[in-house]
Amino acid sequence: MTRPFAKAILIFMPDIKANLESVLQRISRAAFSAGKNPQEIKLVAVTKNVPVDIIEQAIQAGITDIGENRVQEAEPKIDILKAKYPNVTWHMVGHLQRNKVRQALDYFDIIQSVDSVRLAREIQAKAEAKVVPVLVEINTSGEETKYGIPVNSIVDFLKTVLSFNNLSVQGLMTIAPLVDDPQKARPYFRKLKTLSEEIKKLNLPNVEMKYLSMGMTDDFEVAIEEGSNMVRLGRAIFGQRPPKR
Ligand SMILES: *Cc1c(COP(=O)(O)O)cnc(C)c1O
Repeated sequence: MTRPFAKAILIFMPDIKANLESVLQRISRAAFSAGKNPQEIKLVAVTKNVPVDIIEQAIQAGITDIGENRVQEAEPKIDILKAKYPNVTWHMVGHLQRNKVRQALDYFDIIQSVDSVRLAREIQAKAEAKVVPVLVEINTSGEETKYGIPVNSIVDFLKTVLSFNNLSVQGLMTIAPLVDDPQKARPYFRKLKTLSEEIKKLNLPNVEMKYLSMGMTDDFEVAIEEGSNMVRLGRAIFGQRPPKR
């Protein structure tokens, strides 16, 4: 028997605490199977389309890092939540338009989605006295629909960005292609890990490879097995995204 009403409640009132517990267990299991300490894997809760009261439940359940993908949607939420929870770290994870950089720098603590020299230059210009932690988004699949620096341009990119002293490159980020089986995402995660190892060897000043941000709801365990230490999870914590309000 289907019960549409009960189902609607489940979708719109997710049990955040239970979801989070189960996610943390899955992260631990994947970490152990990769021979890693689960504590080293940072969980970023991605809250696009999630209302403030639900985000608040996640914070109360222990979430410390939150990702949003649109400046405009994030601003009013961050305004409310920063006042109450000043210690939360806010991650910009979506494509950032250059005309939104100033606002983004006011609201976010780290920009995970630096995907062009032009954007990096704009951040450099607008950061003023701040040093902005950034990750470089890499288009590991080469899909034309995806943002990100092509794998074979990353060294040139980093050499250009070296002189931008308002940016602190702390790692790489990627979005794997949508696939029916998470195993099929493995080569892209492996590629990002290899790339980060190659960049480390170059010893570029002002470039750290501290974070490998890869893995979302459908593929985070495979990503962790391949060396991810930062997973960005939306649906695994909040359930299917509710329609935009
Ligand atoms: C939405 C989003 C996520 C989270 O996606 P889920 O599949 O819901 O876990 C992670 N990263 C980025 C860049 C996103 O836009």
